[in-house]
Amino acid sequence: MDCIFCKIAHGEIPSATLYEDDAFRVILDVGPASRGHALILPKEHAKDLYSLSEETASKVLVLAKKMASKMSEALGCDGLNLVQNNGEIAGQTVFHFHMHLIPRYKGDDVKIGWRPGRLSEKDKNELLSLLR
Ligand code: 5GP
Ligand code: ZN
Repeated sequence: MDCIFCKIAHGEIPSATLYEDDAFRVILDVGPASRGHALILPKEHAKDLYSLSEETASKVLVLAKKMASKMSEALGCDGLNLVQNNGEIAGQTVFHFHMHLIPRYKGDDVKIGWRPGRLSEKDKNELLSLLR
Protein backbone atom coordinates (compact mmCIF):
# COMPACT_ATOMS: atom_id res chain seq x y z
CA MET A 1 0.00 0.00 0.00
CA ASP A 2 1.35 3.39 -0.95
CA CYS A 3 0.68 5.45 2.17
CA ILE A 4 3.10 8.27 2.96
CA PHE A 5 2.19 8.36 6.66
CA CYS A 6 2.71 4.57 6.97
CA LYS A 7 6.20 5.09 5.53
CA ILE A 8 6.90 8.02 7.88
CA ALA A 9 5.41 6.26 10.92
CA HIS A 10 7.57 3.17 10.29
CA GLY A 11 10.73 5.22 9.67
CA GLU A 12 11.00 4.32 5.97
CA ILE A 13 10.91 8.04 5.14
CA PRO A 14 12.83 10.33 7.50
CA SER A 15 10.87 12.87 9.50
CA ALA A 16 11.45 15.39 12.27
CA THR A 17 10.40 13.04 15.07
CA LEU A 18 9.47 14.43 18.47
CA TYR A 19 8.38 11.13 20.02
CA GLU A 20 8.18 7.45 19.11
CA ASP A 21 6.94 4.29 20.77
CA ASP A 22 5.58 0.89 19.58
CA ALA A 23 2.28 2.33 18.44
CA PHE A 24 2.94 5.97 17.43
CA ARG A 25 5.32 8.48 15.93
CA VAL A 26 4.87 12.21 16.54
CA ILE A 27 6.40 14.45 13.86
CA LEU A 28 6.61 18.11 12.95
CA ASP A 29 4.17 19.05 10.18
CA VAL A 30 5.98 20.15 6.97
CA GLY A 31 3.38 22.84 6.41
CA PRO A 32 2.92 24.20 9.91
CA ALA A 33 -0.03 26.40 10.83
CA SER A 34 2.06 27.74 13.72
CA ARG A 35 5.45 27.22 15.38
CA GLY A 36 5.57 23.66 16.69
CA HIS A 37 2.60 22.26 14.71
CA ALA A 38 2.93 18.50 15.12
CA LEU A 39 1.12 15.37 13.98
CA ILE A 40 0.43 12.19 15.92
CA LEU A 41 0.67 9.23 13.53
CA PRO A 42 -0.38 5.77 14.64
CA LYS A 43 1.84 3.02 13.19
CA GLU A 44 -1.33 1.05 12.47
CA HIS A 45 -2.82 2.08 9.11
CA ALA A 46 -6.39 3.26 9.39
CA LYS A 47 -7.66 5.78 6.90
CA ASP A 48 -9.73 7.72 9.40
CA LEU A 49 -11.35 7.72 12.81
CA TYR A 50 -14.11 5.36 11.72
CA SER A 51 -11.68 2.60 10.87
CA LEU A 52 -9.18 3.17 13.69
CA SER A 53 -8.98 0.32 16.21
CA GLU A 54 -10.46 1.02 19.64
CA GLU A 55 -7.10 0.15 21.19
CA THR A 56 -5.27 2.85 19.21
CA ALA A 57 -8.13 5.31 19.62
CA SER A 58 -7.97 4.89 23.38
CA LYS A 59 -4.25 5.72 23.43
CA VAL A 60 -4.31 8.75 21.13
CA LEU A 61 -5.71 11.26 23.58
CA VAL A 62 -3.34 10.16 26.34
CA LEU A 63 -0.42 10.82 23.99
CA ALA A 64 -1.96 14.11 22.83
CA LYS A 65 -2.17 15.20 26.46
CA LYS A 66 1.51 14.36 27.08
CA MET A 67 2.63 16.17 23.92
CA ALA A 68 0.41 19.18 24.68
CA SER A 69 1.98 19.55 28.14
CA LYS A 70 5.47 19.25 26.71
CA MET A 71 4.70 21.81 23.99
CA SER A 72 3.10 24.22 26.39
CA GLU A 73 6.17 24.08 28.67
CA ALA A 74 8.84 24.11 25.99
CA LEU A 75 7.30 26.56 23.53
CA GLY A 76 5.47 28.82 25.94
CA CYS A 77 2.41 28.81 23.68
CA ASP A 78 -0.71 30.51 24.96
CA GLY A 79 -3.09 27.74 23.89
CA LEU A 80 -3.31 24.68 21.70
CA ASN A 81 -5.85 23.19 19.29
CA LEU A 82 -6.28 19.47 18.73
CA VAL A 83 -7.60 18.96 15.21
CA GLN A 84 -8.50 15.68 13.58
CA ASN A 85 -10.03 15.72 10.09
CA ASN A 86 -12.10 12.89 8.59
CA GLY A 87 -13.06 13.03 4.92
CA GLU A 88 -12.23 15.51 2.19
CA ILE A 89 -15.10 17.83 3.10
CA ALA A 90 -13.65 18.06 6.62
CA GLY A 91 -10.22 19.01 5.29
CA GLN A 92 -8.54 15.60 5.33
CA THR A 93 -5.79 15.45 2.70
CA VAL A 94 -3.77 12.44 3.89
CA PHE A 95 -5.86 9.32 4.32
CA HIS A 96 -4.00 7.77 7.23
CA PHE A 97 -5.53 8.78 10.57
CA HIS A 98 -3.60 11.57 12.27
CA MET A 99 -4.17 14.15 14.97
CA HIS A 100 -2.86 17.71 14.68
CA LEU A 101 -1.38 19.47 17.70
CA ILE A 102 -1.42 23.18 16.85
CA PRO A 103 0.18 25.49 19.41
CA ARG A 104 -1.50 28.90 19.55
CA TYR A 105 0.13 32.22 20.26
CA LYS A 106 -1.51 35.53 21.12
CA GLY A 107 -1.97 37.50 17.90
CA ASP A 108 -1.34 34.50 15.60
CA ASP A 109 -3.15 34.18 12.29
CA VAL A 110 -4.33 30.56 12.60
CA LYS A 111 -7.92 30.08 11.50
CA ILE A 112 -9.87 27.19 13.00
CA GLY A 113 -13.49 28.05 13.34
CA TRP A 114 -17.10 28.25 12.24
CA ARG A 115 -19.96 30.68 12.42
CA PRO A 116 -22.28 29.48 15.21
CA GLY A 117 -25.82 28.71 14.03
CA ARG A 118 -28.85 28.24 16.22
CA LEU A 119 -30.21 24.85 17.28
CA SER A 120 -33.92 24.77 16.40
CA GLU A 121 -36.41 22.69 18.41
CA LYS A 122 -37.11 20.61 15.29
CA ASP A 123 -33.44 19.82 14.66
CA LYS A 124 -32.85 19.15 18.32
CA ASN A 125 -35.65 16.58 18.45
CA GLU A 126 -34.66 14.95 15.16
CA LEU A 127 -31.04 14.76 16.21
CA LEU A 128 -31.87 13.33 19.60
CA SER A 129 -33.88 10.56 17.98
CA LEU A 130 -31.18 9.87 15.37
CA LEU A 131 -28.12 9.98 17.58
CA ARG A 132 -29.07 8.97 21.09
P1 5GP B 1 -4.99 16.79 6.96
O1 5GP B 1 -5.34 17.97 6.09
O2 5GP B 1 -5.08 15.48 6.21
O3 5GP B 1 -5.71 16.78 8.27
O4 5GP B 1 -3.48 17.02 7.35
C1 5GP B 1 -2.40 16.59 6.62
C2 5GP B 1 -1.18 17.31 7.16
O5 5GP B 1 -0.03 16.56 6.84
C3 5GP B 1 -0.98 18.71 6.60
O6 5GP B 1 -0.93 19.64 7.66
C4 5GP B 1 0.33 18.61 5.83
O7 5GP B 1 1.10 19.78 5.95
C5 5GP B 1 1.00 17.43 6.50
N1 5GP B 1 1.85 16.66 5.64
C6 5GP B 1 1.56 16.17 4.39
N2 5GP B 1 2.58 15.46 3.91
C7 5GP B 1 3.55 15.48 4.86
C8 5GP B 1 4.86 14.91 4.91
O8 5GP B 1 5.35 14.25 3.99
N3 5GP B 1 5.57 15.13 6.06
C9 5GP B 1 5.06 15.85 7.10
N4 5GP B 1 5.85 16.02 8.18
N5 5GP B 1 3.84 16.42 7.07
C10 5GP B 1 3.09 16.22 5.96
ZN1 ZN C 1 -0.99 4.49 6.25
